[in-house]
Amino acid sequence: MFYEGTIYRPPSEAKSIILQITVGCQHNACTFCTMYKDKSFRIKSRSEINDIITTALAQDSDAERIFLADGDAIAVDSLLLIEVLDRLYATFPRLKRVGIYGGPKDILAKSPKELAALKAHGLTMVYLGVESGNGGILTSVCKGVTPEQMITAGQKLRESGLAVSCTVIIGLGGKDLSQEHALDTARVISAIDPHYLGALTLMVAPSSPLSKAIKGGTFHPLTPLESLAELRTLIHELNVTHCVFRSNHASNYLPLRATLPNEQDELLQTLDNVIENQSLERLRPEYWRGL
Ligand code: SF4
Repeated sequence: MFYEGTIYRPPSEAKSIILQITVGCQHNACTFCTMYKDKSFRIKSRSEINDIITTALAQDSDAERIFLADGDAIAVDSLLLIEVLDRLYATFPRLKRVGIYGGPKDILAKSPKELAALKAHGLTMVYLGVESGNGGILTSVCKGVTPEQMITAGQKLRESGLAVSCTVIIGLGGKDLSQEHALDTARVISAIDPHYLGALTLMVAPSSPLSKAIKGGTFHPLTPLESLAELRTLIHELNVTHCVFRSNHASNYLPLRATLPNEQDELLQTLDNVIENQSLERLRPEYWRGL
């Protein structure tokens, strides 16, 4: 399969065929994110998309999972997305799920009716990068929405029947805003009440504005144990109905998995054990972390 530039996908889409129906990210402004800085956003044409589907069919006609890339493919016009979904289900007889990244601004731009139609035509999962529930942090990283808009975007997805997978970034507020970041993020995630929640831990790319802020002494990154303490506060404050939590992304110091709220106490105990005993040997070494 030919891809334009580097392809990123959520860890849970590792077994999916990746179809690049868009290139880059329409927003492409978040200061912590360097994934699509080398790409100009564009939506591929119908004929390009059809060619991609034909190539994917030759690669794996038994595909059960497909992920639509790049970083904000939900920006595609809903009618075209429905066409793509219909073609996928007609082409791949065993197809069971189709996932997509959705930027909050582009989710907000779609009506509940459009989102429900996407669900009816087989879109199953939307990955929403919440990053933080703190308004100041969202502004400082140029996420482009407020916490309340983020909640509305997530709730719109849920109400349309789509499965919602949210991502948050531990350490995004640095030392100065660690507590606010954890508490406000717990509030926003609780309000969205997603089916899945993934925690990443901040990694600072050398070329990013955050890297300059660290060098300039205006941003103080968390240590590994401080990152876990922040995650502990977030988990402790979460109030969700039924949510699979994972920190299995390569950026994390400690891979964890739990179903919340049933396993919330056990998850907190695991974190407490590592934090209180300062069990650094249980943490992923810095050189093994990655995006
Ligand atoms: S919306 Fe997502 S993909 Fe786009 S710049 Fe921000 S973090 Fe990166």
